[in-house]
Amino acid sequence: MSTDKHSTKFIVVGGGPGGSLMAAYLGQAGYTVEVYERRPDLRSAEIPAGRSINLALSYRGICALEGIGIADQVLASAVPMHGRMLHAPSGRLTFQRYGKDDSQSINSVSRAGLTAMLLDAAQRHPTVTIAFNEKCIGVDLDAATIDVEHAESGRRRTVHGDVIIGADGAFSAVRNQMQYLDRFDYRQDYLQHGYKELTIPPGAKGCFAMEKHALHIWPRRSFMMIGLPNQDGSFTCTLFWPFDGPNSFSALQTEDDVRRFFQATFPDAVPLIPTLATDYLQNPTSSLHTVRCSPWYYRNRVALLGDACHAVVPFYGQGMNAAFEDCIVLDECIRRHAPDWERSFREYHTSRKADVDALADLALHNFIEMRDHAASAVFQLKKRAGQWLHRLLPYWFIPLYSMATFTRIPYTEAIRRARRQTCILTVAGVGIVVFALFLLWMWSGAGD
Ligand SMILES: Cc1cc2nc3c(=O)[nH]c(=O)nc-3n(C[C@H](O)[C@H](O)[C@H](O)COP(=O)(O)OP(=O)(O)OC[C@H]3O[C@@H](n4cnc5c(N)ncnc54)[C@H](O)[C@@H]3O)c2cc1C
Repeated sequence: MSTDKHSTKFIVVGGGPGGSLMAAYLGQAGYTVEVYERRPDLRSAEIPAGRSINLALSYRGICALEGIGIADQVLASAVPMHGRMLHAPSGRLTFQRYGKDDSQSINSVSRAGLTAMLLDAAQRHPTVTIAFNEKCIGVDLDAATIDVEHAESGRRRTVHGDVIIGADGAFSAVRNQMQYLDRFDYRQDYLQHGYKELTIPPGAKGCFAMEKHALHIWPRRSFMMIGLPNQDGSFTCTLFWPFDGPNSFSALQTEDDVRRFFQATFPDAVPLIPTLATDYLQNPTSSLHTVRCSPWYYRNRVALLGDACHAVVPFYGQGMNAAFEDCIVLDECIRRHAPDWERSFREYHTSRKADVDALADLALHNFIEMRDHAASAVFQLKKRAGQWLHRLLPYWFIPLYSMATFTRIPYTEAIRRARRQTCILTVAGVGIVVFALFLLWMWSGAGD
């Protein structure tokens, strides 16, 4: 294996958002990088309907894009979302701001558009090459080689490298091989809910049929639908619903079933989706799961990043942002320790693992919050109180959602800090009540 820093050849498996960003970072540092992506080049191919069309990009992701100089370009193609717009069954709308003001927004970006910009950024470096339609079908961890199969010709070959980066998503072939290693921990947990995507097309002259700068939520206890705006005036809606049971995807079989269900449950959305019933029956229903594994590396040969080592359910809007933050940290560790890859990977894994475990729990918890509590008056009051305190004491009190979304405070530290804030507020609240009672007692005593 090569020990000279810049003669090292990295093989990146997966040219999705995480893999292409990491390839750009490595190319920027002068390394030779070969990316192998099983799908065709999405810059020239058709994107299949109904598969997570847009994503919410927030601060951690933006920082990672700044590192390769494309944050402004990506943000120029995004639609900022300043808060949640809640749709009650009656059609009543309630807006809940995400941050202290419009400067704290999350950004709806097209998955394909963003990945295309990342692929362009990676390929701007002459040492980076990307092979499409090449599926990784085998990995030799000790030799740092992968076997790839061409999607059209079926031709198989072995590719040799010095280091492999597994960025091949939640069903990673690289991680799959690592699961045979002694003492490699792996766990996956499926949600009972799946998801299906539907589209609200643009209105006349490309105008938005609903508030443009909001993430729309139809919370219906135990399930929900959300809608994110796209730059062309459309919204991509995602219905999160159980797979099985009387109130589930399996219960709707015909176009009439679909129309009846939507009319009763999301009446204000129905007139906005003219092809609702056919889209619903045509689009796939996909599953959601959490992946946890450890360690994320093998000796000086392999490291995993993004969904390949920590897929989370999408309810905190942080999966891709966390994958991008992996790239910042891995790049920093490589810069510090190269060509000691094992040390780089160990430090990267140690500094990220607890945080993304915490994120996985936050994401699961937020599903319950979004679908069951978001519409309640108590929840809305708490959110407003949190934002008011944040405006009053911006450095002392930061709501947990803001820390996760608008800062790079590690997720574990954000959770600790949020608990401390709640504790202090509870003690302060009890103190104020006791003091008020004391004053009342004094006042009534003074009147005797
Ligand atoms: C419905 C939904 C909504 C989401 N919304 C958000 C959001 O709003 N904000 C957010 O931050 N995150 C969101 N996420 C999470 C986000 O999509 C993922 O965290 C992110 O895509 C992870 O990027 P990745 O590059 O690690 O993996 P992937 O995006 O899965 O990319 C992996 C790539 O590897 C390729 N590949 C796979 N296997 C092989 C193989 N054997 N050989 C070669 N190539 C291979 C794939 O084709 C793909 O291009 C959402 C997820 C879902 C499901």
